Amino acid sequence: MSGPQPGQQRNGEASCKKREDYLEWPEYFMAVAFLSAQRSKDPSSQVGACIVNSENKIVGIGYNGMPNGCSDDVLPWTRTGANRLDTKYPYVCHAELNAIMNKNSADVKGCSMYVALFPCNECAKLIIQAGIKEVIFMSDKYHDTTEMTAARRMFDLAGNSSQSVTRSSLTLIQLTADQVKSFCELCVIKSLEEYDYPFLKSC
Ligand SMILES: [Zn+2]
Repeated sequence: MSGPQPGQQRNGEASCKKREDYLEWPEYFMAVAFLSAQRSKDPSSQVGACIVNSENKIVGIGYNGMPNGCSDDVLPWTRTGANRLDTKYPYVCHAELNAIMNKNSADVKGCSMYVALFPCNECAKLIIQAGIKEVIFMSDKYHDTTEMTAARRMFDLAGNSSQSVTRSSLTLIQLTADQVKSFCELCVIKSLEEYDYPFLKSC
């Protein structure tokens, strides 16, 4: 009888154990968010978001871009301009908005959202109103801006506390250094400085 027997590798060794260095769920979902970000045409900021339900199934993915049907060759991508109408800001849809709008389930109540950057105030409103219960982010580089301060205020009120771990409230979780390190090893993060994560400075 030729060929490997069931439970045997081709080289005749006993069957191997399962892999131990597989991606954990949080790194996996954040990696999906990062991959999605690479679809963005924004020259200065590429952000992806991934929404996951309680069964660890992905129910929505999005990245920042112009609204459907609004040509991204016509609308501006610049961050600065004498007139705000000539900047990207009034037009671009953030990754969180697109992920929620792209959902393939009836709703995203009780779901978790994985996103590279801490959400702005406009996305915080959407996240809260959509019933998302957990936001997992990596970078908080705009922590002190008006937008992020307002977002944090709303998240705190909606969830009572960012430290809360109760299921009924909205929680905020920042990726750990080990999780970010696994990203580095996967080369998921193309520009380390872009996300201004404290660990990355020494990576
Ligand atoms: Zn936003």
